[in-house]
Amino acid sequence: MIYYKTPEEIELLRESNLLVSRTHAEVAKVIRPGITTLQLDQIAESYIRDMGGVPGFKGYRGFPYTLCISVNEHVVHGMPSKRELREGDIISIDCGVVKNSFYGDSAYTYCVGEVKEEIMKLLRVTKEALYKGIEKAIVGNNIGDVSNAIQEYAGRKHRYGIVRELVGHGVGRQLHESPEVPNYGKKGSGIRLKKGLVIAIEPMVNMGRRHIEQLADGWTIATRDGKPSAHFEHTVAVQPNQADILSTFEYTEAAIKSNIELSEVI
Ligand code: MG
Ligand code: MG
Repeated sequence: MIYYKTPEEIELLRESNLLVSRTHAEVAKVIRPGITTLQLDQIAESYIRDMGGVPGFKGYRGFPYTLCISVNEHVVHGMPSKRELREGDIISIDCGVVKNSFYGDSAYTYCVGEVKEEIMKLLRVTKEALYKGIEKAIVGNNIGDVSNAIQEYAGRKHRYGIVRELVGHGVGRQLHESPEVPNYGKKGSGIRLKKGLVIAIEPMVNMGRRHIEQLADGWTIATRDGKPSAHFEHTVAVQPNQADILSTFEYTEAAIKSNIELSEVI
C-alpha cells in the first residue's frame, strides 16, 4: 500500500526533514579527532528534543540511539559508542526525526580532519549519484529510472560497489513505507511515479566490492572486504518537472566549511 501525500502533508514532511537537516549541522560543527560517536549522538538527541521533535530511530525495532553512525568500512546502522574519531576517518551519519506525526530521514558522510583523496572521491561520487537519482524522481518516470541512474553513475561509470541488500523507501507517518527504492535496477521497471509520492533516496556505495556483512552487535552493516563505504540520503517529493528535495545539505555544508576555516586559523 502506497500513501500519496497531500500538499499539506508534504509541508509537514518538509518541516521534519528540515529539523533533520539542522540536526546534521549541529553535529557537523563538532566533528573532529578525539570526539566520540556517543557524544555526537547526545548532541543530536538534545537538539531534536529542544526543537520539539522526537528522535525517529531511537526505539525503532529496538535501536537504542538517535543517530546511526557508521565509521570507515561500516556502511550503515552503526551504533554510537565510546569510540574516538581519528584524523582520516569518514563517518556516515543517518538521522531520523518525528515531528507532527511525520518522519524526516537524511544521511551524510563526513570527513574527520584530512582524508585521503581516493576516499574524498568516493564521497563526492556517492553524493553526485544521489542527485543523479533525484533528477529522475519526477512524475511519469518509474522507480527503476531512479535506481538505474544511481547504478549507472556510481557503479558503471566509477566502478564502485553498490550495496543491494539495503534500499531507499517511502517516507510518511512511518519511517519505512512502500515502495522500496533500490540503488540498482533497470530503466522503466517498478512502479510509476505519481505526484504525492515521498521517497528517501539513499545510495550506499563501497570503494571495493558491494558485499556486506552484519557485525556481532546485531546492527552494524560493514563491507566484507573492509574497504570504506559512503552513504548520502535525501527525502524528496515527486513533482512534475523536478523533485522537491525536502531535506537539505545546505546547513551541514555551511557548518563543515566554517569548521575548515576555523582549523586553518588555528
Ligand atoms: Mg536514513
Ligand atoms: Mg532511509
